[in-house]
Amino acid sequence: MQFADLPLSPAVQASLAVCGFIVPSPVQAKALPIALFGNDLIAQAKSGMGKTLVFATVAIELAVRSSTSWAMVLAPTREIALQIQHVLQTLLTPIATLDAAIVVACIGGLPIDDDERRLRLPSTRLVVGTPGRLKALVQRKSLPLPHVHLVVLDEVDKLLQGDFDGEMTCILSALPPSKQTIACSATFTPDQLASLAQQMHHPQFVCVRGPNDVTTEYVRAGEAAALRDREARAAPEVWLRGVQQRYVLMPDASDIPSAKLERLTTLLSRLPFHQSIVFCNDKFRTEGIATALSEDGFPAVGITGAQTQELRTAAMERFRACAVRVLVSTDLTARGIDVDRVNLVINMDLPRDPATYLHRVGRAGRPHGVAVTLLQPQEVPALDALAKLFKMTISELPDDMHIDAP
Ligand code: ADP
Ligand code: MG
Repeated sequence: MQFADLPLSPAVQASLAVCGFIVPSPVQAKALPIALFGNDLIAQAKSGMGKTLVFATVAIELAVRSSTSWAMVLAPTREIALQIQHVLQTLLTPIATLDAAIVVACIGGLPIDDDERRLRLPSTRLVVGTPGRLKALVQRKSLPLPHVHLVVLDEVDKLLQGDFDGEMTCILSALPPSKQTIACSATFTPDQLASLAQQMHHPQFVCVRGPNDVTTEYVRAGEAAALRDREARAAPEVWLRGVQQRYVLMPDASDIPSAKLERLTTLLSRLPFHQSIVFCNDKFRTEGIATALSEDGFPAVGITGAQTQELRTAAMERFRACAVRVLVSTDLTARGIDVDRVNLVINMDLPRDPATYLHRVGRAGRPHGVAVTLLQPQEVPALDALAKLFKMTISELPDDMHIDAP
């Protein structure tokens, strides 16, 4: 199957081809026919499988077909929102009848007046934003809510996790009931799926476990038990296929942070890698680690939610442009961020929950990589439990740091 076989307008077909998208990925091949016919869709596929292009294609097709319909995309972090805006702009550029400026990113940390000015421009029709900013715009009546025909919830499990409760309720309840909804993520709990199904119109659920293991089914509200069975069948280790997972046991030391920093520099100097993301649980340590690495000869940038948006954007841009090979980050970039040269993830600390572990480590899986977790002795049982939960092997990194080629 090719994109050319899908029910897309000629301008969108041509744009996909110009952008180099010829053959749809498995999730795109299954999900696009469903969503392009206006059905609600829940798409689950591991990171890097191309979920963005599913909803981006539907949004662009909508913009081509109708000059009055709006699409709204929600993402849990500002960086993901900007990345999505970029993908939409790239797809719009080859389309002569549409201007790339019809897509506006509305994110916190930047002046809301600028958003309102851009939203008022007559050509604007696609909005990508974070929940806090979009809620503020809803409350200030700055969005053309009745015209929103498509709403996309990217990294939907994160959007529904509770942190954004008030924002999500405010935004979703303000949108027309007849809208089409597309929800995407790499991880869902069965309860989240069931609750999503309740809010959507007979959504079809597309789940990609591997290249030859794709299923489509209807999710009906209240089917949590059946979903739980399905989850149990889907061996979660496939999400991290291609990533070698290792841990390093830290000796008992009086100064754990500096012992970890020393180990980090050893890992970076001895493991072969293109680009690496170093995850840290503490936003205050993150920037310190980036500075220390830079002083040690490993140019690195830090990114945390405590920085201004300008600094955050500059950090991502330098990392994407490969001006630095190491990004030191809080969980801000644990999910959704697409930098295909990343093939080494280092967890300075054990992530606080299992889903975050999957998302962080998944950053190294495009398609092969290594993930190393620095572990304190008392954390060994937690790592064992994680490995058991996801039926995966996380073995100790040998002293010589030998890692088999993938
Ligand atoms: P996900 O959201 O599933 O984690 P992304 O949408 O960020 O994944 O896509 C990951 C990468 O794959 C992007 O760089 C994207 O350009 C590329 N990609 C997506 N679909 C295709 C395709 N059909 N052909 C080639 N590359 C693709
Ligand atoms: Mg994504």
